[in-house]
Amino acid sequence: MSRPPVGPVFWLEQALAEEPGAACPPLTGTVRADVCIVGGGFLGLWTALEITEQAPDASVVLLDAEGCGFGASGRNGGWVTSWYDELDALLARFGPEQATWLADQSSAAIDRLEAFCEQEEIDCHLRRSGSLWTATAPAHLGVWDGPMRAARTVGREGVVQELDVAELRARTGSPAIVGGALVRDSAAIQPALLARGLRRVALRRGVRIFEGSPMRALGRGAPAVVTTSAGRVEAGRVVLALGAWAARLRELRRAVVPVGSHIVLTEPIPERIAELGWTGGELLGDTRLLVHYAQVTRDGRIAFGRGGGAIGPFGHVRPSHYVDPATVDVVAADFRRWFPQLADVGLTHAWGGAVDRAPGHLPFAGTLGDHETVHYATGFSGNGVGPSAFLSRILGRRALGLRDAFTDNALTHGPPGYLPPEPVRSLGGVVVRDAVRRAEGAEERGEAPGRVTGALRKLVWFTTPRAVEPRLWRRR
Ligand SMILES: Cc1cc2nc3c(=O)[nH]c(=O)nc-3n(C[C@H](O)[C@H](O)[C@H](O)COP(=O)(O)OP(=O)(O)OC[C@H]3O[C@@H](n4cnc5c(N)ncnc54)[C@H](O)[C@@H]3O)c2cc1C
Repeated sequence: MSRPPVGPVFWLEQALAEEPGAACPPLTGTVRADVCIVGGGFLGLWTALEITEQAPDASVVLLDAEGCGFGASGRNGGWVTSWYDELDALLARFGPEQATWLADQSSAAIDRLEAFCEQEEIDCHLRRSGSLWTATAPAHLGVWDGPMRAARTVGREGVVQELDVAELRARTGSPAIVGGALVRDSAAIQPALLARGLRRVALRRGVRIFEGSPMRALGRGAPAVVTTSAGRVEAGRVVLALGAWAARLRELRRAVVPVGSHIVLTEPIPERIAELGWTGGELLGDTRLLVHYAQVTRDGRIAFGRGGGAIGPFGHVRPSHYVDPATVDVVAADFRRWFPQLADVGLTHAWGGAVDRAPGHLPFAGTLGDHETVHYATGFSGNGVGPSAFLSRILGRRALGLRDAFTDNALTHGPPGYLPPEPVRSLGGVVVRDAVRRAEGAEERGEAPGRVTGALRKLVWFTTPRAVEPRLWRRR
């Protein structure tokens, strides 16, 4: 089968046709605002909306380098998920009280997203049908046991439920699945339609949005100053919602790294999907590090993606994060392995994007500089569609100087750890990623990974302590 055109993002094409929205020309001259948000993805847009809710009189400016939703937010897999599937890890890191609060808030963010779309008439094709979190190798069976046990311990029994392999195959048609669980609170969306809908509501609430306005310089003083090529914003507070681009900030260059993720999309095949039995609207994915994620679109296509792609050296988001034909071939081959019955089905689109991967795989928020005027959050690590609605409550309230459980919690102490310095990070990253690929491939063939491969793959969790580069954390 021939390769689809690589680059055009189906979600964005559809959303811009259905909801082009008002034009937001680039910033020129000097403007003043109470809060300037840099980045118009989900995090920046939700933060703008949080501020308009908490302080309707506050003046808010939002800048985006390209257009709202043109980053990860308009090109992701549309999985809206909570952290119940990592509750055991949250418990180990933060203890029962914080872990449960964080997981509950991440789930409440999905409820909020659903209610907001209803209230504001944003039709982002939302389906609240849960996610099927499956194993494709015997070695991956039982990954869900820890989260299920943790959920029982803290009184959240049933949020993750193991399913029989026969049921999983009947509900999806994929012979690649050998076991799995249902995570009940997940939702599927068309992400770019959500991004453009949030933009519409933000504009209606008086947020001044300037697109095509990349921040060129950031003054971390009081006021904070954001400079673009043709203008500047002087603001009481700046909020950085930069996703993977946060890796270019000097304070965060070792706390987050851009990592590629690619998606292929089939032609519309509703009858074939019905034959598979995948008619319940569930998200479908696996437990691998080089994770696969899929959903069925409203017009009966399958969007099938794979994460854990190429690292951006020195914190750069590279053109190959958007368009990488070799990676597309790999994702397409994986799709056919998951659904051999669809070998003849054409792929119409393929695209990629950059994920902001951080040690600990959870987002974190903090403050840059010495004046407490610049706030940021990043590090969603490929799970930010739902959690960005939660983190926006943290950022919006911090920017307004409020103090509550949102503004001060386990995620608001800056980076939890640091990655090795360059060029070790990029070179080592290639070796470790290849080891993960080989190990997970061997496991899917029913083989044990070699000793060296097994040891190298564990380095994916390697971080260096804060003390190694004190300059970074002192200026958090
Ligand atoms: C291919 C792919 C698949 C994914 N799948 C999922 C999924 O299924 N589920 C899930 O939960 N998460 C997924 N993610 C992650 C998820 O999309 C994000 O975590 C989430 O959308 C939050 O994004 P954000 O707002 O932090 O960043 P972004 O959406 O990337 O927004 C950052 C914005 O900052 C702007 N910007 C960058 N530099 C500057 C500058 N100098 N000046 C001004 N603006 C600037 C960019 O233009 C961009 O619009 C995926 C990501 C990718 C790439």
